[in-house]
Formats: sequence, structure tokens, C-alpha cells
Amino acid sequence: MTTEQPQFDDEDAVGLPIAYDSRTGYDSEADVLDAARRVADEVLRPNAEAVDTADGPRKQNFEALAAAGLLGLAVPRKYGGLDVSGTTQRNVTEILASACGATNFIQAQHHGPCRMIAACQSEILKSTLLPRLATGELMCAISFAHLRRMGEPVLAASRVDGGYLLNGTTPWVTGWGIMNQVVFGATLPDDRFIYVWVPADRNDFPHLFENVMPSNGKWGTLMASQPLKLAVMNSTSTVELTCTNLFIPDDYVLSFSDRETMQRNDRNGVLGAAAMPIGCAAGSIAVLCKLAEQRNIPAVKRSADKFTRELTELRNAAYDFKTGVTGTQQDAIDLRAHLIQFAMRAAHAAVAASSGAAIYTSNPAQRLLREAMFYTVQAQTREVMDSILVLLEHNS
Ligand SMILES: Cc1cc2nc3c(=O)[nH]c(=O)nc-3n(C[C@H](O)[C@H](O)[C@H](O)COP(=O)(O)OP(=O)(O)OC[C@H]3O[C@@H](n4cnc5c(N)ncnc54)[C@H](O)[C@@H]3O)c2cc1C
Repeated sequence: MTTEQPQFDDEDAVGLPIAYDSRTGYDSEADVLDAARRVADEVLRPNAEAVDTADGPRKQNFEALAAAGLLGLAVPRKYGGLDVSGTTQRNVTEILASACGATNFIQAQHHGPCRMIAACQSEILKSTLLPRLATGELMCAISFAHLRRMGEPVLAASRVDGGYLLNGTTPWVTGWGIMNQVVFGATLPDDRFIYVWVPADRNDFPHLFENVMPSNGKWGTLMASQPLKLAVMNSTSTVELTCTNLFIPDDYVLSFSDRETMQRNDRNGVLGAAAMPIGCAAGSIAVLCKLAEQRNIPAVKRSADKFTRELTELRNAAYDFKTGVTGTQQDAIDLRAHLIQFAMRAAHAAVAASSGAAIYTSNPAQRLLREAMFYTVQAQTREVMDSILVLLEHNS
């Protein structure tokens, strides 16, 4: 394997630290949020219904996100990324989700793998991939939610000379096609989890594979299904991926974990998924506010005001939540369920206030209602399912 690597330092030639803005083009994270708002308002929202009914992702949306540096949110600055705080990343997600759920969901999937690659031990992987993931020249998919399933592993990993073999079909991989690589989570024979990086096509990364060969000479296969036909997020190119004796060299193992850690992270991070339903609700409330101006119907104005106040309260509750300080772990789970239901209610209100026009595929209200349905199951854990079902039973 060659050791030639692009050089990125946090210091200039005489050892002085390089300023944030000289590397990123931004003076502060507030400017990053302004850029996200600009892309959302000028590029994403005007095309959201067209994207919703399209067969695949809209290239220009990703060019705009890339041009603003927003595909490098989770990449360290020394590799050309913005490496923003968790708070800024969450706020960017909310802004983009309010404008176009499908585009937001694809870009959101890219950031987790960027962080995982940045945290791995393989210098050649980091220096080869991260600068290109930061600019959006390349994007990376993630396939790990199946690890939450009980019973037989969905994707099994077994040890072989020089690496691991993967076997199985993972059910949900978003962005395939616009993304040419994936981070898989798989289950080892001792039930631990392993996370590995896999290219769609090794020939796209000759630098990474020129001196690597499985000991039996067999690479195995990675096959993608056709994009799944979905009631919402249909344009996200979400596929199933099938691995058959797929060889993963040791160098491309990112990390190891286990079910207990995943369950703990799911519980501690249950509100990490809050930004999408909050963004969706904000999008619906923007529709309500516009209708309140256009239609001069007192009930629509009243509803727009009420939902606006509730959004502020719920956003503060979710973003300021501290387990053990503002509430218990169960309170956090219940708040997530409440946010899902709020996104559904706000979108439903936007449908009601739009009258029959809501049913046109060109109308944002129906799209937002279906996007809220998606957030009902996205990153779903058993506890979140329990909590939302309790909430819905009590409302009946
Ligand atoms: C359009 C779309 C795109 C997606 N894209 C991605 C992606 O790019 N990457 C990715 O990793 N994931 C992705 N997902 C997966 C998503 O994050 C959720 O994990 C998924 O929606 C949950 O649905 P599931 O059928 O896989 O549920 P499951 O994971 O099978 O079940 C949900 C929860 O209930 C629990 N459960 C189920 N049955 C039982 C039982 N009998 N007893 C006890 N507990 C049980 C499970 O353990 C799990 O915690 C996507 C999903 C959708 C719908």
C-alpha cells in the first residue's frame, strides 16, 4: 500500500495556528447556520415537491450544500472540514429538514460515517477519504440500524486471514448512487459489533487497494437492490445491500462495539433524533403562517400562532434537556414521542388549512405530513415505539 498522503496541518509554515476562517471560509459557526438557511431558502425549499416526486436525489441540491462546505460539517478541519459543534450540526439538520426532508436525510446520513472514519486508526483511509468527503466530492452511506434487531444477525462478520468476511442483506441504505461507499455495522460470532468501511467499487480507490489481496484471492460481492419504492423519501435512493463473502481488509475496520453500548447510546441520545421532526414541524408552521397571511381566515391565524408558541416550547425542552437535571431518561423518550406527534399534528394542521389544494402532489403540506410519518419510525428503538403508542392510545 502506498504511503503518499495529502498534507493537512493545524499550523502554518512558521508554526502559528491557522485561523478557523482561513481554512473554512467562515468566521464563526453562526455564519455556518446562515449558509444553511441560504441554501435551504434558495435551493432546497423551492424544489422540495419536485424532489419528493422524483426518482432520485437532486444533484444541484448537493452541489449547493457542497459549495457551502456543509457536507464537511463532521470532518476535522485538518482534513478540510468544518468540524462544527454538535449544537451547530443539530441546528443545520433542523434548518434543512424544514426545507426538504429527502435532501436533508441523505446529507444527514453522510456525517456519521465521516466522524467514524475520522476516529479510526487507519491513516491512509483518513488521508485518502476525508478531504474528499469534506468537499462533498465523495459521500458515504451508513448501514447499521439493523444491529438493533434481535435474533439471527442481519449482517454477519467472520474472521479470516488479513480481515473479515461479511455475509447478509442489510434492509436500509440511503443515498446509494450519490454515495459510492458505505460504513457497515455487522455482528461477530461472539455477538460483538464491528464497523467497517466498504467502497461500492474498489476500482474507484486504486490507491487503497493496490497492495491488498485476500489470502484466497476472492473478494466476494456487494450487490445493491433497485431503489426501494417508498411512500415518502422515495427520492433518497434507499436500497438493500447484499454482501456475499465480502472481504474487508483489517486496515478498513473502523471500530468494535457491542449491543449494550448501542442500547446505552440509543437511550442517552434519544433526543439526538429530535432535529428532524422539529424541522418538519417548523416547515409545516411556515406553511400555516403563509396561509394565515394569504387566506385571512381567523382560525388559520389562531392555529399558526398556537403552533408557533408550542414549537418554541418543545424546541427549548428538547435542546435544553439534561437527563437527571431537567428530567429522567423516560422523560427524554416521552419527549421524543411527543415531538413525533407534534410534527404529525403541525403537518396535519397545514393540510387542513390548505383545503383541497393540500392533496396536490405540488403542495408542501401533504409532503410534510408524509415526512412526519417517516420520523415516526426513523431511528426507532423499542422504547420509542412504546412511548409513541402510549401517547396515541391516550389521545383516542
Ligand atoms: C426510508 C428509510 C431509510 C433508512 N435509511 C437508513 C440508513 O441509511 N441507514 C440505516 O442504518 N438505517 C436506515 N433506516 C432505518 C431506520 O433508522 C430505522 O431503524 C427503521 O426505520 C426501523 O424499522 P425496522 O423495520 O428496521 O425496525 P426494527 O429495527 O426491526 O425494530 C425497531 C425496534 O423495535 C425492536 N423490536 C422489533 N421487534 C421486536 C420484538 N419482537 N421484541 C422486542 N423488540 C423488538 C427492535 O429491536 C428495534 O429496537 C432507514 C429507514 C427508512 C424507513
